[in-house]
Amino acid sequence: MKYILVTGGVISGIGKGIIASSVGTILKSCGLHVTAIKIDPYINIDAGTFSPYEHEHNVLMALTAVFCSICVCMPLSISLTLRLTGEVFVLDDGGTVGDIESMPFIEAFRQFQFKVKRDNFCNIHVSLVPQPNSTGEQKTKPTQNSVRELRGLGLSPDLIVCRCSTPLDTAVKEKISMFCHVEPEQVICIHDVSSIYRVPLLLEDQGIVDYFCGRLNLLIEMRPRKML
Ligand code: ADP
Repeated sequence: MKYILVTGGVISGIGKGIIASSVGTILKSCGLHVTAIKIDPYINIDAGTFSPYEHEHNVLMALTAVFCSICVCMPLSISLTLRLTGEVFVLDDGGTVGDIESMPFIEAFRQFQFKVKRDNFCNIHVSLVPQPNSTGEQKTKPTQNSVRELRGLGLSPDLIVCRCSTPLDTAVKEKISMFCHVEPEQVICIHDVSSIYRVPLLLEDQGIVDYFCGRLNLLIEMRPRKML
């Protein structure tokens, strides 16, 4: 089993769920069997009773409190509970890195990455690149801070997905690569689009299938249809 953990930085509602499901969709279209799970780090609150307008549906819900106390076993517990059999397991870690509620989960994944070995675990960090009207510039500082925070907690991003209102300038991409210590190919831009169904196409166009093949040693025979 290959595990792809999707974390979020800077703000909530950044589009992490869309990225996680888009990654799943792409890998499914490559012929892989993909399973996904959303982790909601609410302590003692059943997120399943929230209005869908406040929160999307999720799997973990009230199990969170139990898992908090046995957080190290959490990913294994999930696998057992859901009898997962896929080749790829996409984990959407709800909340924002640094939030106190999600700390047990981040720590669980920090330990988990060593148990499953490097070839089987990677992290996609979804961050924000704001473009304030005052200057019109795309700002990288929130992403730099969020990646530093993630690294401080023991997880290193394999892909940094930058959510921005307009496509990232090349110089901004290079700056994020330089200051977040990743290759430019590991910086992915997902700008605001009119339909979220375009997100998998943007990801595919920026080479994430090739990246996953190399990073996770995935054997992919089929390629998703190029539509961009
Ligand atoms: P999170 O999981 O970070 O809370 P979601 O994936 O639920 O965020 O997305 C929050 C909102 O942003 C949703 O309404 C979603 O449709 C919208 N959204 C996500 N990505 C994009 C995008 N690239 N362009 C436009 N809207 C987006």
